[in-house]
Amino acid sequence: MNHPKTRFAPSPTGLMHLGNARTALFSALFGERFLLRIEDTDQERSRNEFVSELLDDLRWMGLEWDEGPGSAQPTSDYFQSQRDEVYAHYYDHLERAELAYPCFCTPTELEVARKVQLNAGQPPRYSGKCGRLSAEDVERRLQKGLQATLRFRVPRNSTVEFNDRVRGPQKFNTDDIGDFIIRRADGSPAFFFCNAIDDALMGVTHVMRGEDHLTNTPRQLLILKALGLHTPDYAHISLVLGDDGAPLSKRNGSRSINQLREEGYIPLALVNMLARIGHHYENENLMSLDELKRHFDIGHLGKSPSRFDIAHLNHWQESAIRKADDAYLWNWLRAETRAIVPEPQRARFIDMVRSNCVFPDQAHEWARILFTDELTPSPEIEAVARQAGEAFFLAALDAVAEAGDNFDMFMAQLKAKSGAKGKQLFMPLRAALSGRLDGPELIKLYQAQEPFVLRKRLAEYAGAAT
Ligand code: GLU
Repeated sequence: MNHPKTRFAPSPTGLMHLGNARTALFSALFGERFLLRIEDTDQERSRNEFVSELLDDLRWMGLEWDEGPGSAQPTSDYFQSQRDEVYAHYYDHLERAELAYPCFCTPTELEVARKVQLNAGQPPRYSGKCGRLSAEDVERRLQKGLQATLRFRVPRNSTVEFNDRVRGPQKFNTDDIGDFIIRRADGSPAFFFCNAIDDALMGVTHVMRGEDHLTNTPRQLLILKALGLHTPDYAHISLVLGDDGAPLSKRNGSRSINQLREEGYIPLALVNMLARIGHHYENENLMSLDELKRHFDIGHLGKSPSRFDIAHLNHWQESAIRKADDAYLWNWLRAETRAIVPEPQRARFIDMVRSNCVFPDQAHEWARILFTDELTPSPEIEAVARQAGEAFFLAALDAVAEAGDNFDMFMAQLKAKSGAKGKQLFMPLRAALSGRLDGPELIKLYQAQEPFVLRKRLAEYAGAAT
């Protein structure tokens, strides 16, 4: 296929999670044209807030769609709740061709029949009872005001075959399917139906979706063939598992995209991680979305489920932060962090963040340490500084006066004046300047501080002599 057209077709019944985000990403990476369709047929569970959140999440990830809500194309057609007339046309067509029939069985009747089949060790499927009603019977029941669903008449004793782009050749016996509902009693379209019709009408060439939809596909192909509509290729992507090997869920580490955004994850980190869950790239470095797209290969989608591991995401996060430019990192910081970084120290602080932080909270902690008076070292850390003695800090103050911003000169002077070296030189300075014994390189701590704060912190330990 030279010009693949793909789609993402979420149901707006909740926040977007990692599994869905990966489906969207693969579809966007593979499609030359990519469309977004909102499958909001479940009126009770679909909510507008989830739609806006979905659009925000996709945009945040850097995914753009050529057609769909918020794109340059007219949008109302991309909400299934607005497409009743389209579906009505095809119901009509199927009914007239006797490829679909009204079913009056009540939920209780269906449930009883299901139990009987299960008890007899048979797979539950609809008996086809209402499919045998005469036209008069149907008319009489409709006249009585009985509610009916519409069922698709599945051809008997036949097979549906297709070549899944991930899972290879598939073959289903139609006798295992049973006539299924395509319109619910309340008039709303069933998933199998509107999803398949829309893919065909919207010119989708490749449907990429979770493997949990694999068994829906024969039903959808039957509908499309019955209507003489175009059938797409299908690529059923392996499930994402949590770190315990069970399907990814809130319990084993899944997060909503919204939550990841709030935690300060960088979209490029997320897409680099997602693009490698169940898809193999030769290049193991951080890639831009364009590069990910260029090297995406539908043949590189794996058949076996793959695991999501937060450590992988954090690895990509670190790479993304290390490569980000100043302006990006500045905006990535929390507003309250930006508010406490003095303008002249900004460039050096960002540089420090780039090499030492992975999350905005960590950056905030360092900003607080460097730029506010809130240094509260533990007694042990204070002891490390005190141990160096007042003379050491007096020498440090002299060295600052001479060296100013020049860290190498400062250290040389301090070494010469105090006679301290190695850990005895570094640790007391670190303790005095940051109240911590770990963290960024000393040169960064030294240079990111405002000169008067630096002097004040050294003076704290220089005793009465200052
Ligand atoms: N609305 C369906 C879902 O969210 C779409 C499935 C599909 O991609 O075909 O599961």
